[in-house]
Amino acid sequence: MGTVVLAFDVGGTTVKAEVLDEDLRVVTASTVPTPRGPAVVDELAGLGGRLLGDLPDDVRGRVSAVGLAFPGIVDAVRGVSVYSANLGLRDTEVTAPLARALGLPVALGHDVVAAAEAERRCGAAADLVDPVVVVIGTGVFAVSYVDGRRVSGVSGQAGELGHLPVRPDGPACRCGARGCLEAVASAGAVARAYAAAVGREVDGAREVVAALGTDPVADRVWAAATEALGDGLLAAVALLAPGAVVLGGGLAQAGPLLTDPVLRRMRLAGPPLAVPPLLTAAFGTRAGVVGAALLALDAARAAGTAGSAGAAGAAR
Ligand SMILES: [Zn+2]
Repeated sequence: MGTVVLAFDVGGTTVKAEVLDEDLRVVTASTVPTPRGPAVVDELAGLGGRLLGDLPDDVRGRVSAVGLAFPGIVDAVRGVSVYSANLGLRDTEVTAPLARALGLPVALGHDVVAAAEAERRCGAAADLVDPVVVVIGTGVFAVSYVDGRRVSGVSGQAGELGHLPVRPDGPACRCGARGCLEAVASAGAVARAYAAAVGREVDGAREVVAALGTDPVADRVWAAATEALGDGLLAAVALLAPGAVVLGGGLAQAGPLLTDPVLRRMRLAGPPLAVPPLLTAAFGTRAGVVGAALLALDAARAAGTAGSAGAAGAAR
């Protein structure tokens, strides 16, 4: 009888929750809108309580830990959301109240790092040496590995590829600068550029992708974004010479429509830059919740509770 974990991926618009076994098979799942502010912790506790309460007793008894993938800046050791603009949180305790409410130990991690870990350990990058995993959604963030270890940097914030300036005269970025990669090539930027060009609201970047090949405006917006992304990714290639670049997040759902033009752009670089294979994420938009499950499984194993039924509350 293996261990079972509860995993949350807290996004800007929805919270994805799954109960998974140690082979990452989904037992049950639910998605709710993300509340803003400290209410998010109560929402997680309520959602987790409902999911656990609906489990058969024999499965409930095997749940040994909770994994929480959280946006913004997190302090995993203290269990605190240091800052999240999207959720409206600053210095908010998250793991302790959730652990108290659910009676389980809670492991906290950064959402994009969790998603990248899922891809590296069990997904598209599983067999690759030192990949760079780039998650493209609201922002653009890169998680890099060197000699098998994740690069976190002196500040712990290594990977802010989204704020690399790639177009000096490009659109304003939410960080205050101009022409950042995420201001040109994030899912939001693609949607905004297309909406501005066609003069109406659009249904996100997916509407642009759906119009490729039939709408010259969509083609033009997409070309600008994929060229900028190719230029931005070359920075990672030049510094790290990764075994592969794996693209994840919402925009990567476009598959070869994304990777083909980005790769063409990257290959315009001279021979000193060895452009690696460009892949798309295996877990798609589930990568964050799978990464949260891995956090929980690691915590359960470290506490020695993995696989031992009835040990659920022991490590709280
Ligand atoms: Zn920026």
